[in-house]
Amino acid sequence: MTAKMPQKYYSRLWRAILEFDLLADGDRILVGLSGGKDSVFLTYALAAIRDSSPRRFELAAVTLDPQFSADFDPSPLTDFCASLGVPHHPLTANIAGAIAKGGGKNPCFVCSYFRRAAINSFAVEHGFNKVAYAHHHDDAVETFVMGMLYTGQLKTFLPKTQLDRTGLAVIRPLIFFREKELRATPRLHGFTPIPSPCPLDGKTKRQEVKELIRGWERTNKHVFRHLAAAMRESPASELWPPTPSRAELQAKHRAFWNKR
Ligand code: SF4
Repeated sequence: MTAKMPQKYYSRLWRAILEFDLLADGDRILVGLSGGKDSVFLTYALAAIRDSSPRRFELAAVTLDPQFSADFDPSPLTDFCASLGVPHHPLTANIAGAIAKGGGKNPCFVCSYFRRAAINSFAVEHGFNKVAYAHHHDDAVETFVMGMLYTGQLKTFLPKTQLDRTGLAVIRPLIFFREKELRATPRLHGFTPIPSPCPLDGKTKRQEVKELIRGWERTNKHVFRHLAAAMRESPASELWPPTPSRAELQAKHRAFWNKR
């Protein structure tokens, strides 16, 4: 199959690639392909630009079976990748076991940690220099809101992260796609996404935040755009200075009262 997309999808993809320097000559890119709509589209979209990109790159995909279900079958993804000329590597890691071992505490944190570790090790062992994930604009904004609500920090993931220890770069080429656009993409490539085998799917803090943002959007249609703009570093930001240490506060206290 020859991968092709509407022009607006090429524009979103190239905007991310160019703005955040996601592609370089000779890159060997490994796509994290879970089988969900986003990662299937990411594989398709990168295959669509592979032959015309002025920067030549190699593409492969990895599918991790986290052992949430005995029925997980990655073979339809192998066929899909083969139709795009993308080598596909199924991989297994006992993430369900790691979550159970941790007593079920912070399951998404444990899952992401072990998932990333397994995929990054595979990438390094097989000579890939970049790992591509299918995080989109809604994911970034939700992570930004979750950071504020649950950790009191203004932060989200970056479109590109250089991992110092392994030398790998993590890239997120779909960062300018909205989730609602991605819902329509199975019509483009014809592959029916594989339902997530995770028992927590749709019951996470992220889902709660997604619904919270949707609720805000019902009363203010600009909310998403404003949250996305607030994720950018900006000279217009007016934030309090960092919390001083106890020693700094004590020094201020002494300096103030010694003036009397
Ligand atoms: S929802 Fe399930 S698959 Fe997703 S991070 Fe949490 S435990 Fe992992």
